[in-house]
Amino acid sequence: MPGHPAVHRTAGDVRAALVGERRAGRTVALVPTMGALHAGHASLVDRAVAECDAVVASIFVNPLQFGPGEDLEQYPRRFDDDVAMLGERGVAHVFAPEATTFAPPELRTTVSVRGPLAERFEGASRPGHFDGVATIVTKLLAVALPDRAYFGEKDLQQLAVVRTLVRDLDLPVDVVGCPIVRDVDGLALSSRNAYLAADERGHALALAAALRDAQATWAGDATAARRALRAALEAAPCVEPDYADVVDPRTFEALEGRVDGPAHAVVAARVGRARLIDNAVLGGPR
Ligand code: AMP
Repeated sequence: MPGHPAVHRTAGDVRAALVGERRAGRTVALVPTMGALHAGHASLVDRAVAECDAVVASIFVNPLQFGPGEDLEQYPRRFDDDVAMLGERGVAHVFAPEATTFAPPELRTTVSVRGPLAERFEGASRPGHFDGVATIVTKLLAVALPDRAYFGEKDLQQLAVVRTLVRDLDLPVDVVGCPIVRDVDGLALSSRNAYLAADERGHALALAAALRDAQATWAGDATAARRALRAALEAAPCVEPDYADVVDPRTFEALEGRVDGPAHAVVAARVGRARLIDNAVLGGPR
C-alpha cells in the first residue's frame, strides 16, 4: 500500500520493525541501495513489492566500498526524494543508518570473498571494494533477515560476489538478480551518470553501443568478441577504457576461443569524471 515509509536509523529499530512483519506472517524483501534513486532501483523495488509482503530498502552510501581518492564525498545524495519515491512504490521500511554507527572506523570484522572472482576486473581496479560490499551486504542481511534480497545485473560482478557469500555462509536468503534498466538512448542508468556533462553523456553511449555490437556479432568466439569490444572502446572519443572483456558471469574468468556456456561482455571506462560500468549477455543459459 503506497504511503510514507517508516525510516529506521539504527539496526535495532529496523530489526524490531521487521520482527513485527514476520510475526504477522509477512515475507520480507531487502533492496540495498546507495540512494540517488533512479528507474534501475525502481525496477528492483517493484519486483520486491510484487513478490514479497513487506519491503525494506536500505539507503547507505557505504564508505567501506570506496577507495582512497574515489567519489565518496561527491556521491549524489537525495534522501527526501528517495524516501518519497520508495513510499509511492509501496516500500514500507527504509533503513538509513549513519556511517558512524553502521560502518564505524573501529569495525574489526571484514567479510572477504577470497579468490579470483573478487580479485578480477572491479576487484583489481578498486582494491578493497568487494570487501566493503561483502561486509555491508552481510550486515544488512543479518539485520533484516529477508526472505529475498534484490540486486541489479548492472553490477554483475557484485551479484556474483553476493551469491558466493550467501552460499558460503549458508545465509537463508534467495538472491534475486534483476535486468539492467537503460535510458531510451541505451545508457545504463547509474547514480554516477549525474557526473556527466551533456557532451560527455553522448560520448558515454559508446559503452552500450559496443556491447550491442558484441551481442549482434556474437558467434561463440570469445577472443574475437573481446578484440572487437576493445577496438570499439579504444576508438571512442573521450572514453578512457579500464577493461573490456568476455567472461563467465559466475566466476568472472576471462573466456578464450570457442564458448558454449554462459558468456557476458563486461566493460568499464572513465568518461569525464565518471567511472562507468556496463555489461551484456552474449551466450548460453544465465
Ligand atoms: P547502487 O545504489 O548503485 O549501489 O545500486 C543499488 C542496486 O541497484 C544494485 O543492486 C545495483 O546493481 C542496482 N542497479 C543500479 N543501477 C541499475 C540499473 N540501471 N538497472 C538495474 N539495476 C540497477
